Amino acid sequence: MALVTTTEMFKKAYNGGYAVGAFNVNNMEIVQGITEAAGELNSPVILQVSKGARAYANHQYLVKMVEAAVINNPDIPIALHLDHGDSFELCKSCIDGGFTSVMIDLSSKSFAENIEGTRAVVEYAHEHGAVVEAELGTLAGVEDEVCVEAGNESYTRPEEVEEFVDKTGCDSLAIAIGTSHGAYKFTAAQCTRNEDGILVPPPLRFDVLEECIKRLPGFPIVLHGSSSVPQEFVKIVNQYGGNMPDAIGIPEAELRHAAELAVCKINIDSDIRLAMTANIRKYMAENPSHFDPRQYLKPARQAVKDMVAHKITNVLGSAGKA
Ligand SMILES: [Zn+2]
Repeated sequence: MALVTTTEMFKKAYNGGYAVGAFNVNNMEIVQGITEAAGELNSPVILQVSKGARAYANHQYLVKMVEAAVINNPDIPIALHLDHGDSFELCKSCIDGGFTSVMIDLSSKSFAENIEGTRAVVEYAHEHGAVVEAELGTLAGVEDEVCVEAGNESYTRPEEVEEFVDKTGCDSLAIAIGTSHGAYKFTAAQCTRNEDGILVPPPLRFDVLEECIKRLPGFPIVLHGSSSVPQEFVKIVNQYGGNMPDAIGIPEAELRHAAELAVCKINIDSDIRLAMTANIRKYMAENPSHFDPRQYLKPARQAVKDMVAHKITNVLGSAGKA
């Protein structure tokens, strides 16, 4: 199977009450870890690349690594998606260069500018066989070039979604219901603490999601900033010389519920970074004389694979849906 768009994946996910994981990729070990897990579990998967990843690894390297993953996992649908495209030129460059899906994120602009800019990308993408994700509302947090301070986020206004989708022709819509980018999603002031002293985030705004679903029946919704920041990784990082106080994410039970509704794509990046870093820190500390990168990248890749397998099985519900 060649790279596919997300159209068929989302239709099946919507009707099947599950979501497809969209995992950010920057290097070979991450691409391998994700796609080996998806391949073994017979799950559709979206590999996504941010502007920052493209600057880090270079467009050709990323596309060729993803193409290699497609060859090695011929039985599952894999889409290659641009995460947070911020201009027509960037989206065009990715579509021309083999991506099957792009996000145009003009959510920080006015409603009218967001519609106009998204519409232009949709026209180009559809002429070239690619699909487009757009965004309404803004998430807090930091992700590569996207940075919104906690408190400056704004929930999606459900009364805007129909007009936006109608006028832009976008294929899926990212909405803001309280998820957040990065490993520090919430300030302590926004949270409570449980008996172990771990921060508990404010609940997601399922009322906003349900309003959007009512107005866009059958239409795929996307959640960004949906890492769960597993505390076992944070603990390992901190145990082996790191310093990540109060790193927390979105509870997996909430994401599971969203996946059962119209949410068809759930973005996960920080959990990959954490899985790798925790395992590399541990390996380095336990094996101070080792210096072959393969020695510490192998367990790091395995940790990515195990984490993604857990998400597919227990959070997304996409196992066996290829
Ligand atoms: Zn995002």
